[in-house]
Amino acid sequence: MTLPEINKLYPTDARCRELLQRLRWPEGVMCPRCKDTRVSVLKDYGRFECVGCEYQFTVTSGTIFHDSHLPLTKWFLAVLLLVEARKGMSAKQLQRTVGMGYKTAWYLFHRIRKAMSTAERGMLYGTVEMDETYVGGKQKGMGHGWRKNNQRKKEVVIGIRQRSGELRFFHAEDAKSGTLAKYIQENIAAAVVGIYTDDLPAYPKALADRMHATVTHSAGEYVRGDVHTNTVESAFSLLKRGIVGSWHKVSAKHLPAYLAEMEFRFNRRKREDLFLDTLRHMITADPLTFETLTAEPDDFAA
Ligand SMILES: [Zn+2]
Repeated sequence: MTLPEINKLYPTDARCRELLQRLRWPEGVMCPRCKDTRVSVLKDYGRFECVGCEYQFTVTSGTIFHDSHLPLTKWFLAVLLLVEARKGMSAKQLQRTVGMGYKTAWYLFHRIRKAMSTAERGMLYGTVEMDETYVGGKQKGMGHGWRKNNQRKKEVVIGIRQRSGELRFFHAEDAKSGTLAKYIQENIAAAVVGIYTDDLPAYPKALADRMHATVTHSAGEYVRGDVHTNTVESAFSLLKRGIVGSWHKVSAKHLPAYLAEMEFRFNRRKREDLFLDTLRHMITADPLTFETLTAEPDDFAA
């Protein structure tokens, strides 16, 4: 989907609503309150009434779009910009490009990210690479930028990637064997061809008796035949380019949201329905997911 296509296909609120209706209720309009499918269309623009319980609703009732005053056409543009930005996009950029307040832009992107975080994550199999990286943020009163050598502020990101398959990013407590073991158990199928990691000492214990091979980064080894962690590392480099180039700083609190965005986009980068799939997640996500989404004054500094 391109910008001219979006403008042509969804130029008005009504056209946006038609699409959202197809995505939310592919089998026909259903009452969000009692699930009745006997629904009448009201004369009022975009409104339905349930025959069963008389509840009146629109396609955005009970969804993340509901309490927003932003026109749907702008939501659509924001979704397209975010899903097409391989390295992410800042709220500042959205503010300038689409034309809206900074706070609105910030919330909008975070709502899209939240919807992305509800995507299903199946187990990974085949040949799986696992690696960890460290990202660190601004420390209050110590200037900007991501500090390389500041242990206290570093956040651990664990990446697991199935070769020719999907990627998973996790904001982890630490990179100790118990933590790694938990992510392995929850995300890597029992029967895999092999799990490749670097030589972090925590891996052998975390992987226990599973098929495992290591590249000895500490001795300057990066590839040994098929044994390498290059594909998960390439995903990390995309993440870091996003952090440095687009977001400038990411608080530990919001890091999982950025990871979800990166993972969602990465796993769908070859899909032609990326835009529609994102909207589908947004219109069907439980709005409760969004209740805890709050910003701190610091979030609005960038
Ligand atoms: Zn009803």
